[in-house]
Amino acid sequence: AKSVANNHFQFYVASLDSEIRERKKLEKDLSKAIQNDELFLVYQPQIDLNSKQVVGCEALLRWRHPERGLVPPDVFIPIAEANETILEIGDWVLHEACAQVNQWRNQGFNIKVAINLSANQLRQKEFAPHVLKIIESRQIPTSLIELEVTETSFMENLNQAITSLRHLSEFGIQCAVDDFGTGYSSLSYLKQLPIRKIKIDKQFVRDLMKDEDDTQIVHAIIQLGKSLRLDVIAEGVETPRQERFLKHDGCTLAQGYYYSKPVPPDELIEFMKVSHAP
Ligand code: C2E
Ligand code: CA
Ligand code: CA
Ligand code: CA
Repeated sequence: AKSVANNHFQFYVASLDSEIRERKKLEKDLSKAIQNDELFLVYQPQIDLNSKQVVGCEALLRWRHPERGLVPPDVFIPIAEANETILEIGDWVLHEACAQVNQWRNQGFNIKVAINLSANQLRQKEFAPHVLKIIESRQIPTSLIELEVTETSFMENLNQAITSLRHLSEFGIQCAVDDFGTGYSSLSYLKQLPIRKIKIDKQFVRDLMKDEDDTQIVHAIIQLGKSLRLDVIAEGVETPRQERFLKHDGCTLAQGYYYSKPVPPDELIEFMKVSHAP
């Protein structure tokens, strides 16, 4: 029995060891992903539930690893966030999204893009002027850029986030709270931060009308948004039933596979053409 236990222990150590090695390898590969041109953005449309028109999109990052294929952001973003790589990647995303906004403008489409930020970016002292410089260098109207921040990302350094986000909002860049209600913070930040929009996380939308708690949470978030005059967008909408509930409850914006998965830039234009048709 003793040797069996020992074997188990050795197996455990070996697998932990290979996990760490695996992570180190990904970390190393990721640091070269930008220069090797392995990163790209896909865009998921955001829909106005009343007009059914596309009102903007969210930029979502993808990494095509030369050997592993697509690595999901839930895997590589945390790795990038553990060191400085996320700052470089975050910059790449800002530049790339701005370049795309311009390319769409040249094609005759003014499409607003929501960009995800990580806590490390928001912690930077010079974050606001840095973002403004990128946007101004491409002469993009600031109204076409929106920033998505999570509660946990700004609670880490609330004062710095207040300074940066207020600075950006003075220049017309709007801010949305991502994964709303999933963090463990009080709502007092809503008074301090220049927030225009809250995003209902897909975990609450998934079990709408199946789970009573989730249904009530979604209802409460929509009511809160109304009282504070914030836009409310639901993410992860997959069915017409979910859409009907949200719309009936007063949610005005939605995003999810029911409309479109995140797609390359050209497909977003195609989707817009179709959804704009009568
Ligand atoms: P998120 O910001 O909460 O993004 C929503 C996620 O839900 C995306 O996953 C999206 O593809 C997925 N999704 C959209 N519609 C549906 C649906 O109807 N059903 C379901 N089940 N899922 C749906 P994705 O693209 O894998 O991104 C995962 C997370 O990675 C994002 O969560 C965000 O936190 C992070 N991320 C993605 N791109 C960036 C980026 O450029 N910068 C940073 N810092 N984080 C990013
Ligand atoms: Ca997001
Ligand atoms: Ca989310
Ligand atoms: Ca998230």
